[in-house]
Amino acid sequence: MPTYRAPVDEVMFLLRDVFHVERYNNLPGFAEATPDIVEAVLTEAAKFCEDVLTPLNRVGDKAGCRRHADGSVTTPPGFKDAYKKLVVGGWAGASAPAEFGGQGLPTVLTQAVREFLYASNMAFAMYSSLALGAVAAIYSHGSAEQKARYLPKLISGEWAGTMNLTEPQCGTDLGQLRCRAAPQADGSYKITGTKIFISAGEHDLTDNIIHLVLARIDGAPAGTKGISLFIVPKFLLNPDGAPGARNAVSCGSIEEKMGIHGNATCVMNYDGATGWLTGEKHRGLYCMFTMMNTARLSVGVQGLALSEVAYQNAVAYAKDRLAGRALSGAKFPQKAADPIIVHPDVRRMLMTMRAFNEAARALVLWTALKGDIARRSADAKEREAADDHMGLMTPVIKGVLTDQGFANTVAAQQIFGGHGYIAEHGMEQFVRDARIAMIYEGTNGIQALDLVGRKLPKDGGRALQAFFAEVSGYIKEADAAMAPYVTPLERALGELREATLWFAQNALANPDNAGAGASDYMQLFGLVALGYMWCRIVDAAKANSATASMDDKLVTGRFFMERMLPATATHLARIKAGAESTMALPADAF
Ligand SMILES: Cc1cc2nc3c(=O)[nH]c(=O)nc-3n(C[C@H](O)[C@H](O)[C@H](O)COP(=O)(O)OP(=O)(O)OC[C@H]3O[C@@H](n4cnc5c(N)ncnc54)[C@H](O)[C@@H]3O)c2cc1C
Repeated sequence: MPTYRAPVDEVMFLLRDVFHVERYNNLPGFAEATPDIVEAVLTEAAKFCEDVLTPLNRVGDKAGCRRHADGSVTTPPGFKDAYKKLVVGGWAGASAPAEFGGQGLPTVLTQAVREFLYASNMAFAMYSSLALGAVAAIYSHGSAEQKARYLPKLISGEWAGTMNLTEPQCGTDLGQLRCRAAPQADGSYKITGTKIFISAGEHDLTDNIIHLVLARIDGAPAGTKGISLFIVPKFLLNPDGAPGARNAVSCGSIEEKMGIHGNATCVMNYDGATGWLTGEKHRGLYCMFTMMNTARLSVGVQGLALSEVAYQNAVAYAKDRLAGRALSGAKFPQKAADPIIVHPDVRRMLMTMRAFNEAARALVLWTALKGDIARRSADAKEREAADDHMGLMTPVIKGVLTDQGFANTVAAQQIFGGHGYIAEHGMEQFVRDARIAMIYEGTNGIQALDLVGRKLPKDGGRALQAFFAEVSGYIKEADAAMAPYVTPLERALGELREATLWFAQNALANPDNAGAGASDYMQLFGLVALGYMWCRIVDAAKANSATASMDDKLVTGRFFMERMLPATATHLARIKAGAESTMALPADAF
């Protein structure tokens, strides 16, 4: 059975020594989050994840969710109790606004807790994540009455939420959406249509489920400009706000799927269900994006989380499994063979995972901190800059962290040899669970297009220029002793600039050049961002050089610079090759 230890010390190091979170005490909610409180929150969350959720991960995978003849769905054994504990522990809406019952804790802290939740049990953690997406959408776009009616229960975790975009004929291309909304005399709408692949669409964890549904109001324009967002509760609310009559929405079936078996992926049938418009008419996609940006960052964290738990188990196995002798001579001559951790090829995989995990965690927390600034700062300029960073980094975190997170679960499985393929060790579950994160919330191909097509040119490239300025400013100021880290970063940044310029010169004339190079660009961008994180980590580690774990960071950072960052050159070469050979064959040649 796999085990998991939440990396509390790592998070504390990043918050305290790398990002100096105490400097943000002027932001609402930060002064209350003293170092002692932060450590206590992380330690409690770690305990819940290690003791309650980790043992349920395999149970959820094996038992899965069950749909019954009446359309109800039961979650795997133990999920209901664990969910109650999650609610009682206040983990559901810890960073939600205090005015609606949240604790207002900084997201930079709660995002770290999300990593622990996903690493210990991704399928379970998704139930509460979706509610947070619904909170974000209603908080940003709902009327005062809608906020008062729905937010407190969603934030406490007593009710769950879902996001309903996908239909049988469309997932990426929501312009093809058909779900209908018919206006009623009382201001409500009757929602009719079928949504597929809806995570947590039906379950037994909460008294109510608040569905956020994209639909087209009768007579609305075709395409994405005619889509609106609706709140459709499973149980309609009585005047006192308590769940009352059942609404005409039901789960038609749940999907048999590759992983995350503990999370019900539902076909949802809306048969004239009562819904209420939230946000402006025909601006539904814009409103849903509020939810999706929160969700995309959260999905990026899933990639990191599964990489971390897979890594931890691979390390334990590599120290224990005996096979062959070290190339440099036996390290444990008294044993039948050396543990496989002595082999450079096994080390290559372990170091790749480790170097990714530490920098990816830093990138997530840095961006979460920007999210806090964007929402909480009193200074409009500061809010704008932080928001720019969030917009730019969201597709990078979603795409790069889930691609590499999946690759790392495969590498961890590889370290187990044949045993990695056998269910008992749990490694194959990590691979199966990690795979979906590359697909949902917009496939990683779509993240890359979002980065290249929308985020780079937005506001005249303001966000990108700010990122370039920050990294090059850092390089300029860096101490000479940082050369082993800063020199490779400078080269990689140069390649990123070159790739950006190449798009500017070649994508307008032939947009396929941007499409063919977008995924490489996203990976190149991710490597530069992770490289920058490594420089910041190494700086902080040098300042704390008293402990062995800090020395380890200098080595791990060097591994990243020497063995991972050079991939930027390959990405640049692919981008500059353009679209010609990619697109030359006619479709019927395939
Ligand atoms: C387990 C699971 C849970 C899910 N949960 C939810 C949920 O809670 N709510 C919800 O609404 N949906 C959910 N989804 C749906 C998911 O978000 C979509 O499957 C995903 O966005 C892709 O859409 P699609 O399946 O229609 O693929 P398509 O849109 O048909 O795409 C197929 C392929 O073509 C590529 N492609 C499509 N268009 C373009 C383009 N313009 N340029 C380049 N490449 C393109 C895609 O990248 C992809 O590789 C879930 C799916 C699964 C499997």
